[in-house]
Amino acid sequence: QFNNVPVVGRNGYIEADTAFHNDISPVKVDLVFGTFRSEDTSQYLLPVVKRAENMVVNDTSSHDYLSPAGIEGFTKSASSLLLGDIDQLWKDGMVFGVQCIGGAGALKIGAEFLSRYMNCTTVYYPDPSYEIHGTIFEFSGFVNTFEYRYLNRETKAIDFDGLCEDISNASVDSVVILHACGHNPTGLDLTKDQWRIIAEIMKERKLIPFFDIAYQGMASGDIEEDAWAIRYFHSEGLQFLCAQSFSKMFTMYNERVGNLMVVLKSGFNSDSLKIHFERIVRTLYSNPPNHGARTVFQILSNPELYKEWSSSFKSMVVRIIEIRRAFRKALEEEGAPGKWNHITDQKGMFILLLLTDSQVEYLRYFHHIYMVKSGRINVTGLNFTNISYVAKAINDTLRK
Ligand code: PLP
Repeated sequence: QFNNVPVVGRNGYIEADTAFHNDISPVKVDLVFGTFRSEDTSQYLLPVVKRAENMVVNDTSSHDYLSPAGIEGFTKSASSLLLGDIDQLWKDGMVFGVQCIGGAGALKIGAEFLSRYMNCTTVYYPDPSYEIHGTIFEFSGFVNTFEYRYLNRETKAIDFDGLCEDISNASVDSVVILHACGHNPTGLDLTKDQWRIIAEIMKERKLIPFFDIAYQGMASGDIEEDAWAIRYFHSEGLQFLCAQSFSKMFTMYNERVGNLMVVLKSGFNSDSLKIHFERIVRTLYSNPPNHGARTVFQILSNPELYKEWSSSFKSMVVRIIEIRRAFRKALEEEGAPGKWNHITDQKGMFILLLLTDSQVEYLRYFHHIYMVKSGRINVTGLNFTNISYVAKAINDTLRK
């Protein structure tokens, strides 16, 4: 009966977001969701997306169903962003993609496949990580969902020895989720040498890498550089999955554009493998929607639009870097206790302030500043109008 369903409350992002919207204070600051904001706090929409959308709408002559694996041109150009020239690999079936409902959808389809058809039961993901990594795999039948050490909360740096030790102890066929760049929420990425070591461990322990890339280009400012780890794993002959999100890169959060890239070694019957993925999609939502993926494909396949996208995208990255610098400076000038170099050392859309639950609550109730657990903030929720207010509030909170 329905009344036997356990009663739960909202938590995490949704709870913080709802509380922000219910707050009537004129000084309130929203640092919760990772959507790109302009200086005036409005949601930023890349102008090239608007242009491409208009083209897509004009070209639409029917709303026929897509195939369960989606638009092949889209999955191929999306996969090329990750691996470079893949023409031959694509023809040979060594790389293929499944259009998914955002990056989260790609994680879900991958998790279902690994659980159903590869009998995987164990997944490792970083501590901390994207909020729902563990739950997605748990809901797909994984009985062991383990965190591996990633952030050293004392030094605010990566605990690389801990990471290596944890994944070295993983049993054969464990799935290991790896943030390819712009790690959410720490903004701390592995160096190339560290990636080389991780690839070795993966091979030796026969682990299954599952990359998650939601911020390609937003960490280093360079699309190719941010895909380095993925390219390296491929060059080392590893087989893996990669959940790719276009939400942040194209400021298209609600169109749910994602791709699950599957990378194989030769000798596989990839056609049969694809059918398994299609069956999973078919039972979950039958087939994906058209508009968002078609828009991204339009941009990726049209050199003029692509050029415009890369240049506006670079300005977004510049804004992130400027805000990081200004925020660190404001906290230092304020004399807020602690060191703040990690704000400019970390990369991407998030800053992890490492605050306690009560400090996060204090900021909410006394200063109307909203963020998620541990003090993860969206960098672009800050702007040159509110930075000093937020820095003062953090100083006050840390001194309580
Ligand atoms: N993976 C990571 C690391 C993320 O940070 C996010 C979104 O915040 C996602 C996946 C999900 O992306 P999408 O919004 O496209 O589902």
